[in-house]
Amino acid sequence: MTSSGAPLGVCPICGATLGPRRKDTRPPFCSARCRLIDYGKWLDGSYQPPWLLDPEEHEALQALQDAEE
Ligand SMILES: [Zn+2]
Repeated sequence: MTSSGAPLGVCPICGATLGPRRKDTRPPFCSARCRLIDYGKWLDGSYQPPWLLDPEEHEALQALQDAEE
């Protein structure tokens, strides 16, 4: 069963309705930023060691965490 009225889904991080795909987004997230936030949650839960991230994404995540402190 799928939920009606939201064919593109909703971002699990910020709750935004997903619009048309852009090259910097990747479902189910609405933006690269939300995807990185999700990575941060994974790291907090020790789901995935940071060295498994792409160096580029790891760098972006570091910058995001620095900005939130
Ligand atoms: Zn989002």
